[in-house]
Amino acid sequence: MKTEEGLFIVVSAPSGTGKTSICREFLKVYPNVKFSVSYTTRPRRPGEVHGEDYFFISRESFKERIAQGEFAEWVENYGHLYGTSRKTMKDFLDKGADIILDIEPRGAKTLKQSYPRGIFVFILPPSISELKARLSKRGAEDDAAMKKRLEAAMDEIREVAWYDYVVFNDKLGRAVYYLGAIYVAEKSRRERPAVLSKISDFLR
Ligand code: 5GP
Repeated sequence: MKTEEGLFIVVSAPSGTGKTSICREFLKVYPNVKFSVSYTTRPRRPGEVHGEDYFFISRESFKERIAQGEFAEWVENYGHLYGTSRKTMKDFLDKGADIILDIEPRGAKTLKQSYPRGIFVFILPPSISELKARLSKRGAEDDAAMKKRLEAAMDEIREVAWYDYVVFNDKLGRAVYYLGAIYVAEKSRRERPAVLSKISDFLR
């Protein structure tokens, strides 16, 4: 029997929403799900590991990869390039492995066009006041810089309109639980080949 194509979940969120922690905790609960490691030209932050958090590459190398058509999607974000490897995605999905991608809405939209079967989840802070509080905690900036950050976050949040699910991150544990619930519900859909094949065993 042909292996069922893996399921893929795209998670997007404005900065300061705790998306990275949610994905990390989700992967601990569901170790069968693989994290799709993106390529980026942004400098590595302390504690980040090449090949685990990102593949940190030069702008030249990134541009070459674009020219070779290696990315399923890529964007420039705050002066740095970020991209998802088409091959990494395909290899996982063909093997039947489930994957999770942490990408921003522009890239997510591109993926939705090429992989309409993906599950698109948007993570939001519990309220607009909480978003403001979390953004201001990220750096002691002046009002103008803060306003810019908020506008950028709002631009991203407007994209929620075409996502499939929304998770409000008031508490980390709860957000991870909800993301897990979405994953399990999608895995349990009657029309999934793996589910259908088990049902047919009963009906034989
Ligand atoms: P950071 O630099 O803070 O790790 O990520 C900045 C933003 O880039 C986040 O919103 C993250 O989701 C997004 N991002 C990370 N990897 C990719 C990618 O491969 N493609 C796209 N489109 N966005 C990405």
